[in-house]
Amino acid sequence: MKILFVTDLHGEVWKYDLLFKVAQDFRADVVINSGDMFPKNGNLYAQDKFITGYLEKHFAQFNAAGIYYLCYLGNDDLRIFDDVFEKTCSKYPFVINLAQRKFDIGEFEFIGMNWVVDYPFRLKDWCRMDTKDYVFQKQFGTGLLSTPNGIKELDDWFSYAQTLPTIEDEVNQLIRPKNMSQSIYVIHMPPCKLGLDKCGHGLEVGSKAVYNFLLEHQPKLSLHGHIHESPEVSGRWYAELGNTICIQPGQLVPFTYVTIDLKTMKFDRHTEY
Ligand SMILES: [Zn+2]
Repeated sequence: MKILFVTDLHGEVWKYDLLFKVAQDFRADVVINSGDMFPKNGNLYAQDKFITGYLEKHFAQFNAAGIYYLCYLGNDDLRIFDDVFEKTCSKYPFVINLAQRKFDIGEFEFIGMNWVVDYPFRLKDWCRMDTKDYVFQKQFGTGLLSTPNGIKELDDWFSYAQTLPTIEDEVNQLIRPKNMSQSIYVIHMPPCKLGLDKCGHGLEVGSKAVYNFLLEHQPKLSLHGHIHESPEVSGRWYAELGNTICIQPGQLVPFTYVTIDLKTMKFDRHTEY
């Protein structure tokens, strides 16, 4: 089974267009798009126009070609648009919103999670404390949540976050595969300690909870995104964690993606302009 993995496209249409061409050339069985799918510049409240005006046609192409497309929103995709996103995906049998779900293709089980560890940025729609003893980073301002009536400013994000499940809770609550050694976890947030989480300023911000989960349960593969520049900063875009291969291709100016053959476990990173 051949997988084409991409993440953090942030509404860049030329990359989406190229994704379909590359998927056909590679003869991909499955495309995985690991979140932060919508444009993040300008008015975030117009992100639904990207779903109806562009993504719907994009999905229809893959559906017609019989290529599975597993995807979910990321931390810069407003959570209020999850409903319209879900509705759009569900029009196409080959397009799956994988957030907090498991989807089986042949003998392989794909499990998605798109919650992220809190960060200094203000939009908190998808943010969680990593573990109960998580220490927050210094914030760029008050926390914000999207609501149907507009952006809601949070008086005290830290207190509110304490009332939410942690990343540790969320990852442990996910439906478990029948066969962990044939399963692929698609988690927007990268694990810590592997060089897949290094920011431009040098801080390593990966999740301890995700790392511990992967180390304990040992899926075949884990796919991550979120820290666009990490591969250029750390020099690493994949790592071994016991028997699990963890991949974080990053996403900067060129279109960056990874091809994976699940049978042979040959995998390569590609960049195109
Ligand atoms: Zn992103």
